[in-house]
Amino acid sequence: MTALFPLFADLRDRAVLVVGGGAVAERKTEALLHAGARPVVGAPQLSAALQDWAEAGRIRWLPGQFREAWLDEQVWLVIAATDDRQVNQAIASAAEARRLLVNVVDDAQLSSFQVPAVVDRGPLQIAISSGGAAPMVARHLRRQLETTLDDAWGSLTELFGRHRQRIRERFPDTGTRRRFFEAQLAGPLLRLLRQHQHAEAEAQLDIALEQAKAPGPTGSVALVGGGPGDPGLLTLNALRALNEADVILYDRLVSDAVLRLARRDAERIEVGKSAQGHSTRQEHIHALMLEHARAGRRVVRLKGGDPFVFGRGGEELEFLHDHGIAFEVVPGITAAVACAAYAGIPLTHRDHAQSLRLVTAHCKDSLDTLDWQVLAQQRQTVAFYMGVAGLETIQQRLLQAGRAGSTPFALVENGSRPEQRIVTGTLAELSATARHHQVHTPALLILGEVTALAERLHWFGAPPQVGCTPLPSTKIAARTLAHAA
Ligand code: SAH
Repeated sequence: MTALFPLFADLRDRAVLVVGGGAVAERKTEALLHAGARPVVGAPQLSAALQDWAEAGRIRWLPGQFREAWLDEQVWLVIAATDDRQVNQAIASAAEARRLLVNVVDDAQLSSFQVPAVVDRGPLQIAISSGGAAPMVARHLRRQLETTLDDAWGSLTELFGRHRQRIRERFPDTGTRRRFFEAQLAGPLLRLLRQHQHAEAEAQLDIALEQAKAPGPTGSVALVGGGPGDPGLLTLNALRALNEADVILYDRLVSDAVLRLARRDAERIEVGKSAQGHSTRQEHIHALMLEHARAGRRVVRLKGGDPFVFGRGGEELEFLHDHGIAFEVVPGITAAVACAAYAGIPLTHRDHAQSLRLVTAHCKDSLDTLDWQVLAQQRQTVAFYMGVAGLETIQQRLLQAGRAGSTPFALVENGSRPEQRIVTGTLAELSATARHHQVHTPALLILGEVTALAERLHWFGAPPQVGCTPLPSTKIAARTLAHAA
């Protein structure tokens, strides 16, 4: 198969014939209008939208069955969008005879030009064609590109476009001009546009144009929420940041599946936190962020869940701010939201809970400072982070403060990951149940009536393990047999 010659046509104020009045013709006409063309639509009947456009004078309607004379309406291109192959064929050969390029929708053989799948970012357009061989491949690639190339690329292209003349005058030599553009692409412009700081981006470009030589890249830090573990729970912005990263400083809580999505040649540094030695580690993290950002690198500080929920994201941002390092924040799905969803526990429910509390049960001090009266109130859901070691205290305090021993709880271990486990029971037996099932971190404790719904609504991984009565020996025997088999 010979390759097609790709081109982008300027159709402003140029007539293009569309034959057909249905949904396909409507889509093509809309795309033509978007490009500023003057569509001439030939068909016995028009769809509602086409009719509206005709009445508004945006398109011209040629009523009736296809006639060759339509091709003599001074049109530049022809699109055949009828569902009759014979008519399409007649259109194609009539166009061919007049040396008009024709596209027959979904028929590469009859077409002399193809309409590509397009990623549309303002002046920046990326067209993908499979030459009619497999349009699905083109559409698939378009979706991939759409996730990685956000609107900021369009704004950047538009910004460069507005200063095109100045840039040419400033760097008349193509080599230096290319280096200038490369430095700008690696610099802060994209980030600023993404943050909707258009004036600041403009100012940066001004500075860069005034400086004697092309400036070096400037580093920045993206504080990114990596979610609870399932990589499908990353946001598009998180994925983009991981794709662009030079250095990734990640916590132990971040899953391997998430890390695998990062740019292959990004340097990965684990800055795992443990309950001990917290502050020295934090200082070390600060120092690393500073060192890499100052060296001009794009740093991703990747955290489990959301960076602003028990993640010390606030402190890190304050530090960056105080040291004049540019930053952005990408929120992530926090453990409470993810664990609840993956265990079939609606965190609020009209019948059971009108509010939700996120609580850290990290250490003795934090347990002592909590307001247990408030946490023991009815009709709310409480999610305890980092609580595995303190379950006994949590149970005691809540019971003392008046929460009923029959209140149901769920412990979700490794939420959203392949090894997820749900353990359920009642508050009176909380710590005994956790011990019995040997619940380990990372696990989240959810307390409240809503957790009882997990029994019916769980949908991910194994069903909940209930209570702390030992399994009857027959069941154990059956399980052992099943494992052996
Ligand atoms: N910033 C994180 C929380 C950090 S604190 C977030 O927003 O989720 C660490 C605690 O989060 C763990 O001790 C555990 O209680 C909870 N956690 C994080 N990921 C979890 C997961 N996949 N399953 C269960 N609990 C999780």
